[in-house]
Formats: sequence, C-alpha cells, structure tokens
Amino acid sequence: MRVIDRRSDPVAFRAELREWLGRVVPPCWQERMTDASDEDFSRFQRWWLAELDAQGLATAHWPVEWGGEELTIQEQVIIFEELARAKAPDLVMFTISLNHVPGTLAKWGTKEQIDRYIPGVRNGEVWCQGFSEPGAGSDLASLRTRAVRDGDRYIVNGQKVWSSYGAYADYYLLLARTDPDAPKHKGISCFIMDLKAPGVEVRPIRQMNGMNEFCEVFLDDVEIPAGNLIGPENEGWAVAQSTLSTERGLLIFALCERMNILFEEQFASPDAARWMEDDQLRREMMTCYADMQAVRGLIHSMLADHNASEFPPIVKILYGETLQRFSEMWTRIDGLDAMVERPTFISSGYAKGNWMVDYLTSWTWTISGGSNEILRNVIAERQLGLPREPSAR
Ligand SMILES: Cc1cc2nc3c(=O)[nH]c(=O)nc-3n(C[C@H](O)[C@H](O)[C@H](O)COP(=O)(O)OP(=O)(O)OC[C@H]3O[C@@H](n4cnc5c(N)ncnc54)[C@H](O)[C@@H]3O)c2cc1C
Repeated sequence: MRVIDRRSDPVAFRAELREWLGRVVPPCWQERMTDASDEDFSRFQRWWLAELDAQGLATAHWPVEWGGEELTIQEQVIIFEELARAKAPDLVMFTISLNHVPGTLAKWGTKEQIDRYIPGVRNGEVWCQGFSEPGAGSDLASLRTRAVRDGDRYIVNGQKVWSSYGAYADYYLLLARTDPDAPKHKGISCFIMDLKAPGVEVRPIRQMNGMNEFCEVFLDDVEIPAGNLIGPENEGWAVAQSTLSTERGLLIFALCERMNILFEEQFASPDAARWMEDDQLRREMMTCYADMQAVRGLIHSMLADHNASEFPPIVKILYGETLQRFSEMWTRIDGLDAMVERPTFISSGYAKGNWMVDYLTSWTWTISGGSNEILRNVIAERQLGLPREPSAR
C-alpha cells in the first residue's frame, strides 16, 4: 500500500520517507547479503525493487506516461539522501534497466519499443550494456561485433566483455557494426537483444576483488528482429552517447551521500582516537574528508544552479579519486584488521569483504563509464578547447 505522498511539501515528504524506510529496510541486510548466493542476491534485489516501486520511488525520475512520478531533481535528491541515511540497499542489479534503458529509449526508442520493454523494467527485467569488446574500450568506435541485415532480422556475430550483471540479465543494449566500410564512428548501430536467445553464451569473469559482476558475452549467429534497432541504422554512435551520458547523474550524488555518512560514523566511533592522535593519519583523514565535501559541494551547487541530473566529467573524476584515497587510507589505518570481514562499502554490502576489497573495487571507478584519462581528454578538448596531441589527431 502506498504510504508516501509525493504531493506533500518537501519537509513532510522527507519525514514520510524516513519513517517508511525505518520500518521497511531489513536490519542486518548487509550482513545477510555478504553470504548470499547469486539466487538470494537476485531475489533480494527484486524484492527491494518491488517495495520501492510500490511507493513510486524506483521510477521517481520517469515520465508519468511511463508509470513514473516525474519528480523534480530536488525531490529525487531527498530520496537519495534518505536512502543513504537509512543505509538502504542500492538497486545495483537494475542500474542499466532503471537509468540507461529509459534514458536511451526516451530519446531514440519507437512507441512499440517503449510499450514492449518499459513495463518489464518495472517488473524486474534486468538489462545490461553490451558496448565494450576485447579490442574496444576507450576506443569504443573500433568495435568489431557485426550485425548483418537479413530480411526482417539482423544476424549478429562477435564478442563483448565487461558486461556488468550480464549473468542476471534478460536483455542487452548492444552496439554492433552494420557498415564495415563507413568511417568507424558512422557504421555502428544500437539494438535491443534478448540475452536468452539461441547463440548467446554468457561467461562470468572472476575479478580481483573476489566478485564476478562482469561477464564476457559470445554471440554466434544471434538473431535480432529488425524492429529492435534503436534509432536509425548506422546512427548507433549518437544513440550510445545518450546511454553513456546517463552514467554520471544522480548515481554519483547517491554514492557521495553514502560516503559522507561513513565519514561521520568514523568520526563518532570510539575508535576515532586511533587515528585522531596520529598527526599523519589525522592530516590524511581531514584532507580526504575535505576533498569529499568539495565533491559534494560541487554536486549540490550544480543541482541547485542547473537543476540537471547529468553532471560534467569532472564530478566522476573527483569522486573516483577521492574514493580510492579513502579506501586506501582505511586499509592502512586498520592494518591487519583491514582484512576482517564486514559488509563492503563500495558494493553497498553485497559482497563478503573488507577494506582491502573496497580498495581494490575503488579502481573500477576510474575505469568504468570512460576512464579518468579519457575524461580528462574530454575536458581538455571539448570544454577547454585545448589542442589535441599530434599523435591523437
Ligand atoms: C566496473 C566496470 C563496469 C563496466 N561495465 C561495463 C558494462 O556494463 N558494459 C560495457 O560495455 N563495458 C563496461 N565496462 C568497460 C569499460 O567501459 C571499459 O573498461 C573502459 O571503457 C576502458 O576500456 P578498456 O578496459 O578496454 O581499457 P583501454 O581502453 O585498453 O585503456 C587502458 C588504459 O589506457 C588509457 N588510455 C586509453 N586510451 C587513451 C587515450 N587516448 N589517452 C589517454 N589514455 C588512454 C586508459 O585510460 C586506461 O588507463 C566496465 C568497466 C568497469 C571497470
């Protein structure tokens, strides 16, 4: 039953949300999830999606005609702040489904595609993103997976890699080359692909942090109906920009809020004396805290000034680097205790871990969604108008 009234004023909305989260977030869910099997993890994620959806919170950013709430950025900020404060689970398994898929279809999808796929997202269908390939990451336009038109379908062959949550996914946002003779950015198309279709093999990859979030995906004569082409044929590069621009929005805001709460807990903890009395550690801790507040401040001012949920690359660069310093610092402060098992911070408690696992995982932030080096190039060339290196021209 719906207990949160989005039409109430912001103060009442926040109070209702806080009260509801206090009742519904299961105590010790993080500890339970650290030992969870893949099936339990998936079941828990689906349960949490349904709970949030029943309150209009899972798709609060969606348009009303899609069954969303069309909340303002300020109202969405309240939701993320309260979820962080309540230490509620993240909908990690649905990141692509809830954000990237609607972001892409809103701009490029046909009415048939929206009617067919958007309701499924709310019901727990999982999507993942099939862009990267072994030879095409930063240089994504070099991708070689081929889609060849054959009547009312495309036949796809190739290999993808680093597809997050591919092992749980039902559908793929796929980039494939449809014109091998065109300049490399121009011969690419974007498709909706059924990951359960014949010819698809999904292989999880074990990572250095012990998780297997990623998958390799092998495509062998996979058929995609022509109606699943998103946007015009060979315009996939432009479609992919809509998908990728979704990556840096309120998701980073939410993570920053969680990091802030963790800092506050550390300051208040009886253990604080351990690092407070050490000049070097105290200096490092306060520097890292100040850096994190600078990122938060930047995000807050952008939200207030532009009312925009899409942030420039600098936000992700700063967040990723602060996160690395933060987790590296705690690994050092805790010494051997850094190996003691606890719910991890970065994966929001979904994995058995310790500070060391968090530290290893923090490196994903400066690679995924465009590495920091690439994002710095983007700032230099597109925002500052600096000349490109001769070798990169
Ligand atoms: C946590 C995580 C989740 C991901 N999820 C997905 C997903 O769901 N779907 C998907 O398709 N992909 C996903 N990826 C892949 C991600 O997009 C790529 O890893 C990323 O684009 C980098 O590509 P690469 O790994 O091939 O590295 P490379 O492109 O080989 O780069 C290697 C190094 O060289 C540097 N470099 C490369 N080119 C330049 C340049 N021109 N100038 C300066 N430095 C350069 C890079 O910064 C990097 O440090 C994920 C990655 C991570 C870490």
